[in-house]
Amino acid sequence: MDPDSTLASYLRTVCPDADLGGVSAEALAFAAAMDVVGEVAPEIATAVAAELADQRANLKLIASENFASPATLLAMGNWLSDKYAEGSPGHRFYAGCENVDTIETRAVELAKGLFGSDHAYVQPHSGIDANLVAFWSILTRRVEGPALERLGAKDLQGLSDPDWESLRRELGNQRLLGMALDAGGHLTHGFRPNVSGKLFEIARYTVDPTTGLLDYDQVRKQAESFRPLVLLAGYSSYPRKINFRIFREIADEVGAVLMVDMAHFAGLVAGKVFSGDFDPVAHAHLVTTTTHKTLRGPRGGMVLCTEEFAATVDRGCPLVLGGPLGHIMAAKAVALTEASRPEFAGYAQRIVDNAATLADALIQQGATVVTGGTDNHLLLVDARPYGLTGRQAETALREAGITLNRNVIPFDPNGSWYTSGLRLGTPAVTTLGMGADEMREVAAIVHTVLESTQPVPDSKAKYTLDGSVRDQAKRRAGDLLDRFPLYPGIAL
Ligand code: PLP
Repeated sequence: MDPDSTLASYLRTVCPDADLGGVSAEALAFAAAMDVVGEVAPEIATAVAAELADQRANLKLIASENFASPATLLAMGNWLSDKYAEGSPGHRFYAGCENVDTIETRAVELAKGLFGSDHAYVQPHSGIDANLVAFWSILTRRVEGPALERLGAKDLQGLSDPDWESLRRELGNQRLLGMALDAGGHLTHGFRPNVSGKLFEIARYTVDPTTGLLDYDQVRKQAESFRPLVLLAGYSSYPRKINFRIFREIADEVGAVLMVDMAHFAGLVAGKVFSGDFDPVAHAHLVTTTTHKTLRGPRGGMVLCTEEFAATVDRGCPLVLGGPLGHIMAAKAVALTEASRPEFAGYAQRIVDNAATLADALIQQGATVVTGGTDNHLLLVDARPYGLTGRQAETALREAGITLNRNVIPFDPNGSWYTSGLRLGTPAVTTLGMGADEMREVAAIVHTVLESTQPVPDSKAKYTLDGSVRDQAKRRAGDLLDRFPLYPGIAL
């Protein structure tokens, strides 16, 4: 603990004889927080502490998760949560927003600097919200203007009630071309369970059935015939990098807006692993992201865009968002500060190196890896050669101390509930400090468990796993976690 810190001086006052040398501020902060919560709601404090124990006891390979820093976590748990601040810095609909202004302005400045964007909007509460903000911004910017002119009005206020009906018809049936879900796209990219699938008329591009790779010529052909308003690139489970320069060329050829959802790989963009043609911010009109995956920040979202979309993006609240969350924007600013440091680039590179080593090692063990490898933080393993569905494989591995998620693979015959694949990601284990040797050990554990898991006939969910294989796998995963402990400074 820093002997000059506020906490150290407080502790010297209340317990002058205590030896504070070995006690970290974060250990005290989290222990105290659990006590305070536990006094009101003991069952909740117990569940919060149990979650830490769970994350410490199981190896996290979920590609969309990470371990945020104690500073990021602590920035979220405070009285900023009590403050309403609708509007934007310097232009709020509530009094007393000066401190939220400072926080939001700093987060915006950091996001713009880190990603090199003209504009940043840091209020979205999640990735889904960021995508909604972007969709509405595109609709209002690219459709409303001409639509209003056709209806003889200059602005929305100038429309009478029957004209609103006409405007609704103009805004409807806009087209979006996005990546198919089983090729790696996300639910918010035009799928029925999400409003994007209802809002837009949708077409989907997919991957080559033989290689599993994106075929840019095919995307171009589809864009030429479908003429989308929005060309959407980005993914949740595509294991390769994407050439955004080509996507922008296609968008320009057909007069579409290029939107990229970099929710998964924002940390790789921040760390400059994806640069040049592979940097979405350099090529897209709008880029949306989450802040909690490879970027290693709090749960939340952001929109980065060109000046053309800045004013409409900034109206995300109240258009589709509730009041901005000051405590989350504070945590975003902390995480963006961390991601702006030179060492973050090393972290991002290690994520990708670890994923490549994990993929190679799995292939050497005999696994089938979709596309034959990875260029990013994630890879997909086909569970079918093991005779398993994704669901059986996921549950068996969880029993053996490895947490990951089942996932559809291209042209998946098992649908999105059972699936035929597993998605493995390296952001979290890389945060723990694991490297190539550990990835080879992880591959060996995963392969051994899958090889030893037997499906129960006629079931897509049930399986049997030999108890001794399970226990040995759990021990091996536990050994890795003992060597690379989670939050070693937090004594809970
Ligand atoms: N976009 C992509 C590509 C994602 O993978 C995800 C989440 O997994 C989202 C958006 C949604 O993010 P959130 O869960 O924060 O709404």
